[in-house]
Amino acid sequence: MGRRRRRKVVKVVKKKLPKYFVCPRCGAHAVKVVMGEIGSVAKVQCSQCGLVGEIQITGPSHPVDIYCKFSDLFYSGQIG
Ligand SMILES: [Zn+2]
Repeated sequence: MGRRRRRKVVKVVKKKLPKYFVCPRCGAHAVKVVMGEIGSVAKVQCSQCGLVGEIQITGPSHPVDIYCKFSDLFYSGQIG
């Protein structure tokens, strides 16, 4: 029969999507995705090392999707 400790749980929910992503080349948290319209391109740029890429927006997507494609392209040697 112990005491019940009541713990105050303060949850901080961040609803903000990350604005900057980790650069696959220099590792800095400095990659910015500038979205465009569907059918056009999104621009991805690292403000640290200057790595840039353009990703075709084929459908409704979030900056994080663009970033994923961007890093895929980087690792497959198509950009950078
Ligand atoms: Zn970089």
